[in-house]
Amino acid sequence: MTRPALSFEFFPPKSLPQSFRLWDCVTALAPLAPDFVSVTYGAGGTTRKLTHEAVQAIGAQTGLDVAAHLTCVEASRDETLGIAEEYRKAGVDRIVALRGDPPKGAGRFVARPDGFSGSVDLVEALAGRGFDVTVGAYPEKHPDAADHSADIEHLKRKLDAGADTAITQFFFEAETFFRFRDACEKAGIDAPIIPGILPVENWAGTRRFAEACGTSIPQVVADAFETAERDGGADLLATALATELCDDLLSGGVEHLHFYTLNKPDLTRDVCHALGLTPGVSLQNVA
Ligand code: FAD
Repeated sequence: MTRPALSFEFFPPKSLPQSFRLWDCVTALAPLAPDFVSVTYGAGGTTRKLTHEAVQAIGAQTGLDVAAHLTCVEASRDETLGIAEEYRKAGVDRIVALRGDPPKGAGRFVARPDGFSGSVDLVEALAGRGFDVTVGAYPEKHPDAADHSADIEHLKRKLDAGADTAITQFFFEAETFFRFRDACEKAGIDAPIIPGILPVENWAGTRRFAEACGTSIPQVVADAFETAERDGGADLLATALATELCDDLLSGGVEHLHFYTLNKPDLTRDVCHALGLTPGVSLQNVA
C-alpha cells in the first residue's frame, strides 16, 4: 500500500488562548507532512480577517501548503473575489469554495442580489481566475438536497464548473463513503473525492453536529460512546473507531484522508500513528 496523502483542517482562533491552541495543533501535526492544511471561514462569513491571518501565519511559519475556505454568504461578488485576490497576493492559490450557511438563526441561504448565487457560481469565478478549487460533498446528502441523486448532480455541476476535488462531510461507516463514491462514478464524476474524518473529541457536540448536517450515527457507536464516557474511555474509543474507519477506507482504495482536527491534535495524531503514518515512516515501509 502506498502512503496516503493527509490534510488537516483547522479553524481560525478568536482569542489569544485559542491562537496558542491552534499553534500547538499545527506544530504537532506538521511532522506528518500533510499534503495541505486548511483554515475554515466562520459561518455567515464572520471570520474573514481571522481566517486570512491564520492562513498567512501558518503558511509563513511552517511552509505548509495552506488552503483557505471561502463562502459566498453575506458578501457581494466583488468582496468575495477581493478576498480571493488577497489570498493570491499572499501566495495562497488553493481555495475550499462553499456556498456556506447563513449566520445562526437566519434560516436558509438566500443569495444577495450583488452576490454569488451559490457554490457553482463561486467555483466558476475562482477556477476561471486560476485558483485550485475544492468543494464540499455529502455522502449522506446535504439537508437542503431533495434526494441523493439531486445532491450528486449538484456536486457534478460544481466539478464541471472547474473544481478540482471534493472533501466530504464526516460519516461513521466506510460503506457510506463507498456507496457515495460508486454513485458519483455512475453519475460521471471522475474527480478525486476525499473522505472527511472526524475523530470524536466530544460526544455530545458530535451528536448535535451530526444531527444538524445529516450524518447518521450507528446505534452501536452511540451505545459505545455512552459507555466509554461513563468509564472515562472516550478518547480511546474515538481513536479506535477513527483508525478502523480510515483503515477500511484505505483498504478500499482511498488515497487521501482529510481530518477535521477541531484544533486539537491528539486524536488525529494518534489515529495517523496507529495507521503506521509517523514522521518519516510510510505505509510502504511498514507493510
Ligand atoms: P452546495 O453544495 O452548493 O449546496 C448544498 C446543497 O444544497 C447541495 O448539496 C444541493 O443538494 C443543494 N443545492 C444548492 N444549490 C442548489 C441548486 N442551485 N440546485 C439544486 N440543488 C442545490 N461552512 C462554513 O461556513 N465555513 C467553512 O469553512 C466550511 N467548510 C466546510 C468544509 C467542508 C469540507 C464541508 C463539507 C462543509 C463546509 N462548510 C463550511 C459547511 C457548508 O458551508 C454547508 O454545508 C453549506 O450548507 C453548504 O455549502 P456547499 O458549498 O457545500 O453547498
